[in-house]
Amino acid sequence: MKAVRTNCAYCGVGCGILMKPIGQNQWKAVGDKFHPANKGLLCAKGASLGETLGTGNRVKACLIDGQVVSPKQATAEAAHKLQDAIATYGSDSVAFYVSGQLLTEDYYVANKFVKGFLGTSNIDTNSRLCMASTVVGHKRAFGEDVVPGSYEDLDHCDLAIVVGSNMSQCHPVLFQRMMQRSRPPYLIVIDPRKTATSEKSDLHLAISPGTDIPLFNGLLRYIIKNGGIDEQYVESRLSDCSEALLSVSEFTVSKVARFCQIPEQKILDFYSKFLQFDKTVTLFSQGINQSANGSNNVSAILNVHLITGRVGKVGSSPFSLTGQFNAMGGREVGGLANQLVCHRDFDDKIAIEQVRKFWNAKKMADHEGLKAVDLFKAAASGKIKFLWIMATNPIVSMPNRSEIEKALRTCDTVVVSEAFETSETLKFATIVLPAATWGEKDGTTTNSDRTISRQRSFLKPTGEVRQDWQWVCAVAERCGYGDSFSYNSSAEIFSEYAKLCNTLNSAGNRLLRMGELENLTEQTYETLEPLKWPVEEGRLRGRNRVFSTGEFSTFDAKGKLYPVDWSQCDRFTEIQPPSSFLLNTGRAVNHWHTMTRTSRAPSLYTSEDGPVCFINPKDYKHIKNTGGQDELYFLQVSNPLDERMRSIYRVVISEDQQVGQIFIPFHWSDNFASESSVNRLTSGRCDPFSGQPAFKQTLVNLTAWICDKFGVYATKLAALAPPPADWWQQVEIPGYRAFRFALRSASFTSERFDKWLKDQISSDLKHTCSTVFNDESRGEISAVNYGKAGIEQYIFLTKQPRIILNDDHLRLILCRGFIPDDTQKSQLLIGNI
Ligand code: SF4
Repeated sequence: MKAVRTNCAYCGVGCGILMKPIGQNQWKAVGDKFHPANKGLLCAKGASLGETLGTGNRVKACLIDGQVVSPKQATAEAAHKLQDAIATYGSDSVAFYVSGQLLTEDYYVANKFVKGFLGTSNIDTNSRLCMASTVVGHKRAFGEDVVPGSYEDLDHCDLAIVVGSNMSQCHPVLFQRMMQRSRPPYLIVIDPRKTATSEKSDLHLAISPGTDIPLFNGLLRYIIKNGGIDEQYVESRLSDCSEALLSVSEFTVSKVARFCQIPEQKILDFYSKFLQFDKTVTLFSQGINQSANGSNNVSAILNVHLITGRVGKVGSSPFSLTGQFNAMGGREVGGLANQLVCHRDFDDKIAIEQVRKFWNAKKMADHEGLKAVDLFKAAASGKIKFLWIMATNPIVSMPNRSEIEKALRTCDTVVVSEAFETSETLKFATIVLPAATWGEKDGTTTNSDRTISRQRSFLKPTGEVRQDWQWVCAVAERCGYGDSFSYNSSAEIFSEYAKLCNTLNSAGNRLLRMGELENLTEQTYETLEPLKWPVEEGRLRGRNRVFSTGEFSTFDAKGKLYPVDWSQCDRFTEIQPPSSFLLNTGRAVNHWHTMTRTSRAPSLYTSEDGPVCFINPKDYKHIKNTGGQDELYFLQVSNPLDERMRSIYRVVISEDQQVGQIFIPFHWSDNFASESSVNRLTSGRCDPFSGQPAFKQTLVNLTAWICDKFGVYATKLAALAPPPADWWQQVEIPGYRAFRFALRSASFTSERFDKWLKDQISSDLKHTCSTVFNDESRGEISAVNYGKAGIEQYIFLTKQPRIILNDDHLRLILCRGFIPDDTQKSQLLIGNI
């Protein structure tokens, strides 16, 4: 077998990967030297993709109400429920919630089905949680959702401003590419947290959360006052800027410093560097987007680039770092509920008519649909009767988990197309469709710099697994629209999409044009090299940068500054530790989203510390003392809005956190640790323009969570349930199902735990040998069951918290596969091995 050229399953950098066969059903990922995004580099997540393959924990069969059915039955039932809901309650009673993990072809077919044949625009994507505010900002400034620059600008810039992004961990390859230059750019990082990225910076502005607007408005004022405006560019390329310029007149350095709570000199250093270096790239991501002011944050950044003419020039551009590998593809085909398709919107009646004709649509939507948070609210209130969720795990990833649970319980029909059994959303499905995943999927993606790349399959799907677009086509056919959904391949879908882009955009000033891509054959699609849109007519050649000469996609081809004033500055005066803290959520370097894939790679799973809460030492000390403890291992985090909104986390004391602010990674779900999903706490407050939730800004309370017993448990037996403890976390140990756990006294003495414990330690008959050790003076209980191949089951319960602080104890014991001698046994039983 030959190596296959594909691209990565994770972030928006969109690295090219070569999958090399290294044995039976074994593959190794190496960086593709010829891919323009990464030029051979890969981060740990990309490099371990080979570990995530295989059929274990895969959804392989169709289910209706938990019963295995044929694909025919499942698609017939889905079509029946869909049509029934529309007939009874109207088109807007159905909704689709899709994902940046879909390929462009999946997205296109789903969007066509919903907007052209079901008569609703209720299809939104999890990209709403990620970049929707940037879409608003781009459209305001440029007239179209376009990233003007190219990754090559990171090779040429003299100044890199990274704002609201832990780029070195969230877009690692791109950060390496920029910082490994022989002369790296001057790096300014703007982030309330100290991060791996800020550690590499020349200047770190740890501003107060939510104060990006005054910081950038102050910069705009400084540019005006210090002759930094590119007058010629402004005159010829931008619309009247006077209102925006006026709106920043009060943002003096001293006011900004007070508002952002950082020294004036730091602000002046930032501002003067901006004027000193012409070649400036501002890279922004979720810290900017996931805010109640996300759209205005983006506008404030774009304003300073527009006024200085630093847009789409070599080494000089604003640069939105997209979260998921194909969030951009979704934005292009209309995967957001407030878009039509191909960068066209519902306020464009001519475009709606063109699309209707092109699709031969039977029931064309004519108005915007519900954005993600509103969509699930509508479902919770009973307005959505049929919901199809594709390639995403909203029960973990959406804010306000209890509202999402209610939505999924209230919906009459919840179809879930999913690849992995570890998706918690499956628990709520009435119909399950087994979906192909990375390695089996075949199509295209668009990364953060508009590069379209082929994601190629190298594995055959097993069981009833199909591509997402195939499931949509099968249901569409059952609804009677087979003629419009009779695609034979991804190539066919892609060229139809490219043709629609050209039909809608060739004549105007929109840049989403696919040129020659509409004429791809199966063969040219198969061998397609990465290229950026807009694509030239008649040639397979894209354009590296756009807007460099200022011909924007607006009606008058001019760029627009968007005025953002004080009223949009949202500092959190309510943060009052120790009673009130600001919760910030984000990524851990080696996990992806809700871990359905990264949990399959032992090297990734063991490298992260589990569900933890990072807290400043001062805050820790105060809470510890209030709880009357010498040390504190757990915190209860709760949202005062609703008593159900609370979770328990292990404490990590960190100077990286400012006083009054905590950070919790968002990856963990109830499948991996007890009630650990951070979105039990977030409230779903959204930016009013983009509908993007403010994940970075939730006010919470913290209290000491004190427990008496700590334990580890590992078994080779098919004991699927975790221990009945107050807190538990799954541990990755090959060949075992293992946990660490903690109990409060009431639980430890409960009948339930007692029975569980007895069941584990009195299973002599199943084993060659069992040993139980009970040291009442030390409050320790341990039990080991041995079989012929070594330890089959191990429990250790103690008052000593060290047992749960890392997994080394368990690994040391269990990875050896040995049968201990008498001395080792006694050491084992007192937890000394
Ligand atoms: Fe994959 Fe992103 Fe890492 Fe590249 S940087 S290998 S795209 S996760």
